[in-house]
Amino acid sequence: MTPGETNLDALLARLSRLGPAELKQVQAHLARQQQDARPARELPPVNSDFYDLASTLTERQRRVQEKVRAFMHAEVAPIANEYWARGEFPRQLIGKFRKLGLGRDLWREDGTRDPEDVLAGFLASMEMARVDPSVATFFGVHNGLASLSILLCGSEAQRREWMPRMRDLDVIGAFALTEPLVGSGTAGGLTTTARREGDTWVLNGEKKWIGNATLADVVVVWARDVADNQVKGFLVRTENPGYHVEKIEGKVALRIVENGHITLTGCRVPETDRLQNANSFKDTANVLRATRAGVAWMALGCAMGAYELTLKYSQERQQFGRPIAKFQLVQNHIVKMLGNITAVQTMVMRLAQLQAEGRLRDE
Ligand SMILES: Cc1cc2nc3c(=O)[nH]c(=O)nc-3n(C[C@H](O)[C@H](O)[C@H](O)COP(=O)(O)OP(=O)(O)OC[C@H]3O[C@@H](n4cnc5c(N)ncnc54)[C@H](O)[C@@H]3O)c2cc1C
Repeated sequence: MTPGETNLDALLARLSRLGPAELKQVQAHLARQQQDARPARELPPVNSDFYDLASTLTERQRRVQEKVRAFMHAEVAPIANEYWARGEFPRQLIGKFRKLGLGRDLWREDGTRDPEDVLAGFLASMEMARVDPSVATFFGVHNGLASLSILLCGSEAQRREWMPRMRDLDVIGAFALTEPLVGSGTAGGLTTTARREGDTWVLNGEKKWIGNATLADVVVVWARDVADNQVKGFLVRTENPGYHVEKIEGKVALRIVENGHITLTGCRVPETDRLQNANSFKDTANVLRATRAGVAWMALGCAMGAYELTLKYSQERQQFGRPIAKFQLVQNHIVKMLGNITAVQTMVMRLAQLQAEGRLRDE
């Protein structure tokens, strides 16, 4: 008998001596061997766009998405863990973002934007959050909250002065609404005050959790005018001696984006730097409304990133002699992730359409 050949008689003799429990074990072993011998099915590609929503995008929207995706993989993914551990924003990214020219894709020269670019902006946020939500927050605060405050609440002259520089990231913006003791209740509970003295306003108070505050050139500060009790917006240049910021340390999430605790002590701001069309909290709420859906797009990006990593890992990680993606319990989790992502994708696409048409309501 040559090596590898089976002695059938000896095998049958051994099998005939086995009890029922041992025979069951042999059967199970043979069934497993048969299953493993089947040709392996090709694993599905890692793709979190199950309904192919990408095919509904315009050429420009697709270009923005691809550009941001490539940028995040090349520039952010390799350094994200290191900066997460340090709890620090990689300042070198600002110059790289400038070179990327994303602002020019999303804003026109005069600081307005094409309705098509509302979705392009959301796709950019999603792609950023897919790799790192802190970087998406950095960009969202600058390009969304701060820029939109100037766009929606600034005068023509203020838009002309700030928007081109904001668009090119020549200046970095922040948005300061939250205070140490008031977050959700800012409409009625804002305590930072603004007192007019001739052509100057004097600001006093504290702002907490302000994204980008440690590296911003200009901070949109929302304060209550002591004369009429209305909330107004001010462009505070951070070289102002009455502006002081301290970085908030020890965060458990969004560790890369830097949040600041701002103290305004007799901070003097010229009337020309008061947002000329922000006359009450209604105007602040307009800015929040314009940026709110972006938070959902960021959450979607996080979910897509997590799903893609999960799928890739479960296809590579072997346990009990096979990739864990082959186990039904693992597949169940992965399929639920994709189902939730697909539901959110369709929801936020609709939100973006409503927003581009100017039909988004708070409810
Ligand atoms: C990482 C990070 C970045 C941020 N960036 C910025 C920024 O750039 N600019 C800025 O202005 N702010 C920023 N914020 C602040 C953020 O907007 C506030 O955290 C948010 O508005 C909630 O406010 P709050 O944290 O004070 O909590 P609040 O919402 O005021 O909640 C305080 C408490 O009240 C409870 N509560 C709230 N509402 C209700 C309700 N309706 N019913 C019952 N209980 C309620 C809450 O559960 C909580 O226990 C940031 C925060 C974080 C964490």
